[in-house]
Amino acid sequence: MKEKTIFEKIIDREIPADILYEDQKHIVILDINPFEKGHILVIPKKNYETILDMSEEDFLDLQKIVLKFAKKVHSVFGGGLNVNQNNYKEANQEVPHVHFHIFPRTENKKLYHSENHTGKYTSEEEKKEIIENLKI
Ligand code: AMP
Repeated sequence: MKEKTIFEKIIDREIPADILYEDQKHIVILDINPFEKGHILVIPKKNYETILDMSEEDFLDLQKIVLKFAKKVHSVFGGGLNVNQNNYKEANQEVPHVHFHIFPRTENKKLYHSENHTGKYTSEEEKKEIIENLKI
């Protein structure tokens, strides 16, 4: 049997966490290593590895909780707000169980460094081809 993710262990109360909210399909916890105070994680209970594995219904249900907590975090902390979600190792996903990060931005810390934005298109043709490939 597949080993449980850390979030499944939290859901099953095998390891402790600071739980802010729970319903049949979701759990919301404090991130153990917060980017800023108030950094929370919104997690579907079903172990989808990435959002690409999710059904539309489960994704939309999850977004309802994300929006509620985004508004709540902003109402408590003010300032800026990030809603962030990583898929696969290349995107820095550490826990292979879908989760949305929500955190306030009240300090002048950079999350995305402009010097890392190196994905420039080498030509108009390349850009056009990518646009065509991305159309749905
Ligand atoms: P990601 O890189 O998007 O997979 O982020 C995983 C997040 O889970 C990180 O921000 C961790 O600090 C957080 N995390 C890992 N283990 C725990 C835990 N036991 N309780 C709460 N948050 C955790």
